[in-house]
Amino acid sequence: MSEKEKIQVEIEVKSKTLSVSHAACPNGHLLADETKLIHGKPALKVKAESAGQSGILYIDPVYGSHDNIEVGLEIADGGLVKFFCPKCGVDLTDPDETCRVCASPMFLFHLPHGGIVEGCLKKGCMFHKMKIVDEEHQIQRMFDNPTLESYL
Ligand SMILES: [Zn+2]
Ligand SMILES: [Zn+2]
Repeated sequence: MSEKEKIQVEIEVKSKTLSVSHAACPNGHLLADETKLIHGKPALKVKAESAGQSGILYIDPVYGSHDNIEVGLEIADGGLVKFFCPKCGVDLTDPDETCRVCASPMFLFHLPHGGIVEGCLKKGCMFHKMKIVDEEHQIQRMFDNPTLESYL
């Protein structure tokens, strides 16, 4: 299979059929909460802080879908939020990346085999990207998904 064909296969897979249920904090704690389902899959549970409030955010685990559930805090549209691991409290903000749409900070979750998923921490922006590391060849590829609209 040529390099180009491999990339096309991966792009086909990502459209709302991919869930990020194996996302973890940098210390290896899985964020998925089996007791809280969104779209039938375990939601990703993080501690969230926004505008002086703190609570829990259950993140839609389906890549490209954003039906998140806020518990104990209300994040205003356009408001910034910070995510922390509910187990060890580590800050899940990506130190190196900012949103290319609105320049806000981004969160970073780790995926198995060295992949990552990142997303904008401004509610309503919905910019996400995912990097999957090819297990055999360790080739890194960036997938950019500018807005939710591309999935509807
Ligand atoms: Zn942790
Ligand atoms: Zn943004």
